[in-house]
Amino acid sequence: MPEKMYFTYNEIHKTVKSLSKEIIKSPFVPELIVAIGTGGFIPARILKTFINIPILTVGLRYYDNNNKPMAEPQKIQWIDEVEKKLKGKKILLVDEVDDTRTTLAYCLRELLTHEPEEIAVAVLHTKMKEKKDQFPEKIRYTFTGLEIEDKWICYPWDADDIYEHDKHVKHMSPIYRSLRR
Ligand code: 5GP
Repeated sequence: MPEKMYFTYNEIHKTVKSLSKEIIKSPFVPELIVAIGTGGFIPARILKTFINIPILTVGLRYYDNNNKPMAEPQKIQWIDEVEKKLKGKKILLVDEVDDTRTTLAYCLRELLTHEPEEIAVAVLHTKMKEKKDQFPEKIRYTFTGLEIEDKWICYPWDADDIYEHDKHVKHMSPIYRSLRR
């Protein structure tokens, strides 16, 4: 079992706020958020507080019932009238974590087939590790809240008891301490 790392809702909120500042500062002006479910739903909703554009959602699944990665991610839910909604649009694709990069790379390739003008990626956390897949060359902007070690991240929305969850949060590095303020 890999070592675990816990984040509180407040930390996630602060991470999304700093992520939004980076996006707003950049030349990329998104028109539409596509949130990858379910992990990207709450980050995308918080992001909408700072960048108020519509959210579309897609559901993807990469791990099977035994928590083993499948050959490639499976679509659980996709966008209705996808061509009409994505063609010529500037899209911000949002997920909670870039782990092996398989899910994001797959989703980007699928979305690019619908001829958006541009797609950028925003994630709360990127694990610093060798990736199994790469972003397509067309992707010019990737925004990351925090780069973190390769540990299993426990998000607050997965908690059974949120108070117990928050008790586990004891990040030692200055970057996490700065988030607490
Ligand atoms: P990938 O390996 O394709 O980058 O990540 C696939 C999915 O696995 C992510 O979208 C996320 O839902 C889940 N995942 C990967 N690493 C973690 C982690 O450390 N914690 C949690 N809660 N989910 C993760």
